Amino acid sequence: MTQPKRVLVTGAGGFIGHHLTRYLVDQGYWVRGVDLEHPKYECTPAHEFEILDLRRYDSCLQATRGVSEVYTLAADMGGIGFIESNKALISRNNTMINIHTLEAARINDVQRVLYTSSACIYPGYRQGQTDVVPLKEEDAYPADAEDGYGWEKLYTERLCRHYSEDFGLETRVVRFHNIFGPLGTYDGGREKSPAAICRKVALAEDDDEIEVWGDGCQTRSYCYIDDCVEGIFRLMRSDHSAPINLGQDRMLSINELVDMIAGIAGKTIRKRHDVTKPQGVRGRNSDNTLLCKTLGWQPSISLEEGLAWTYEWICGRLRAEGRIPVRQMTAASY
Ligand code: NAD
Repeated sequence: MTQPKRVLVTGAGGFIGHHLTRYLVDQGYWVRGVDLEHPKYECTPAHEFEILDLRRYDSCLQATRGVSEVYTLAADMGGIGFIESNKALISRNNTMINIHTLEAARINDVQRVLYTSSACIYPGYRQGQTDVVPLKEEDAYPADAEDGYGWEKLYTERLCRHYSEDFGLETRVVRFHNIFGPLGTYDGGREKSPAAICRKVALAEDDDEIEVWGDGCQTRSYCYIDDCVEGIFRLMRSDHSAPINLGQDRMLSINELVDMIAGIAGKTIRKRHDVTKPQGVRGRNSDNTLLCKTLGWQPSISLEEGLAWTYEWICGRLRAEGRIPVRQMTAASY
């Protein structure tokens, strides 16, 4: 009998890493997960899980031993509020994680590494309007990335290319556009907009007001987690080594997102805009031309479906924490 392929998922205790670990195990891979902590909400499906600090080179050597592929999901990250106020920490931590992971993968003869970049690498000057032109991969240059987090991602994208060209380490680079879904952080300061809004709506009574960051006209696209892990897997199996977008290309405003979630909850929700809070770029959307051409595939799970599942999961968590009464049921609409 042939042995299953052995792979490493870093950041396997986090949102995307945990879902990806389950997906790879279901595909028949033997998976080692590594993180600073175990997954918060359910047990890891990984065959082996090690608590390691990947800022340390010796930890990266230990993590990458005996595997043929590495999926790098470990990062110090969060929503716009977190990345705008922790630039030094994020840049330092993620630089160390990424340079040491790549070098350890090379030393341990890993065949292929997937690096998780972000739409935050795209230049601010292309994202100044709410009705923004969707971002193509080549729009990354001339560079003017999101300060801190985005520049580190862009630098590591290039490092992947250098490792590939100079050392023959095969790399794949994916630029995520706002991934959301169950098991994502929904509270505590690192949560992103879909989870934060789901939490606020879930905690609100019918006809309550919730705080919305900025004027709510800023636009984004959102991709459900199941599409994300399928896209990662397809990319890893492809021959495409240059950076590629992975997201939905349906753009909407934060105000529209709030209305959609309120509709799922079956509540009337009023918005109190706080323009002093960080809102990131004015508009951002993914151009999926290269994704479709390269993989013959693109994300297809609707925002409405994905948000309904995410809202239900966050409600379940808040109920379990005693923060909303059990009688306050969710969505009449699903
Ligand atoms: P997450 O915060 O849920 O998971 C990251 C995990 O990395 C956490 O469990 C954390 O404990 C772990 N980690 C942090 N520092 C570590 C260290 N020193 N050693 C070991 N583990 C460490 O984030 P996520 O949403 O799952 O993101 C995964 C990857 O995707 C990251 O590279 C992130 O930058 C990228 N990304 C995510 C999104 C998104 O919308 N979620 C968008 C763009 C890019």
